[in-house]
Amino acid sequence: MATNPQSKVSGAIANGAKPWITHDQEPFIKISNLTKKFGDFTAVDNVSLEIYREELFCLLGGSGCGKSTLLRMLAGFEAPTSGKIEIDGQDMSGVAPFDRPTNMMFQSYALFPHMSVEKNVAYGLLRDGVSKNDAYSQVNEMLKLVQLEDFGKRKPDQLSGGQRQRVALARSLIKRPKLLLLDEPLGALDKKLREETQFELINIQESLGVTFIVVTHDQEEAMTLSTRIGVMNEGEIVQVGEPREVYEFPQSRFVADFIGSVNIFEGRVSDDAIDYVRIKSEDANCEIHVSHGVSCTENQKLWFAIRPEKMTVTHKKPHKTKLAKFNWISGIVDEIAYQGNLSVYRIKLESGKVVRITKSNRLRHDEDEITWDDKVYVSWEDTAGVVLTQ
Ligand code: ATP
Repeated sequence: MATNPQSKVSGAIANGAKPWITHDQEPFIKISNLTKKFGDFTAVDNVSLEIYREELFCLLGGSGCGKSTLLRMLAGFEAPTSGKIEIDGQDMSGVAPFDRPTNMMFQSYALFPHMSVEKNVAYGLLRDGVSKNDAYSQVNEMLKLVQLEDFGKRKPDQLSGGQRQRVALARSLIKRPKLLLLDEPLGALDKKLREETQFELINIQESLGVTFIVVTHDQEEAMTLSTRIGVMNEGEIVQVGEPREVYEFPQSRFVADFIGSVNIFEGRVSDDAIDYVRIKSEDANCEIHVSHGVSCTENQKLWFAIRPEKMTVTHKKPHKTKLAKFNWISGIVDEIAYQGNLSVYRIKLESGKVVRITKSNRLRHDEDEITWDDKVYVSWEDTAGVVLTQ
């Protein structure tokens, strides 16, 4: 079947449907209690996960956390030690890679160096017995979709890294897999090209309505690409959520710290009410007021996590009538990094703890410019952070 790359047939998810909330669809992929051991070492540890049709789902985690092993089990290249994978209602136990409705795009792209771009893309169709005419007409459509229609006769070594990446994508999509598994698909590209290519990847995925599972260690990439992110640590999925959810409401110090940058204050509950909690923190050398309740016990140890952009730094002591005693600390400016769109301040608090604060440079001249060694006040709203119990 040839597609028309001109007409963008965005699927339900591209149009804002969220079956992981509404539960009005059966999950397309069901992973249940999946474990993979290599000898005594557990690379994937009792993972359960549901992914919906047309999602662009990212598995995000640091090196060695087990994300590629999980992807390889979905592709059928690795057999689970225990647990089950179902794709589109079918149990994948014992199903060989080439009999699965999946395809995998490797980080190395694995293009045939001696073949032209169009031969590389046509290869799978011709091997399946599709006639030459049909195969090359589909190849042309696909090369248009990945914006390489003028590059069909070139060999891979006559292309840039970004173009090679798009050839690999065209080749893995030409047979219309229901599920495309991508292992660090943009890893070989430089930062600028990677950012541009992220949007192309989203457009192509939405045009074709194929479900993508992408493995990446790059949290910005996961935030840009995904419908949802599964954060992995030591073989386990530690949180699943939409990008905004995992950034704004991390459930643990690990996730708060792994996704973006964060200031974490350790403390103990000093006052616990239905609609607020107060935390006494020696790190902060102040009492922290949070305007929502948490389920905790009196004097329980916990952590207050707040993003650098949610704190304000001023020369003047904050004047707040409400809660004047809480949520501000004084400190000395230790370091400043000017990054163009924003400046990053490292401020040493009286307690000795250093916090990181970012301030957007909206104006060219700042009347109240903050500089090295200034005494400053750091403050934040009572809704600005999250309380973590693990
Ligand atoms: P990276 O981003 O570095 O590729 P990853 O999260 O993809 O990391 P995996 O490749 O899934 O990590 O590996 C998870 C763990 O399992 C690692 O500690 C790795 O050394 C181990 N591992 C993977 N494959 C094997 C194997 N065939 N035999 C033994 N150990 C393995």
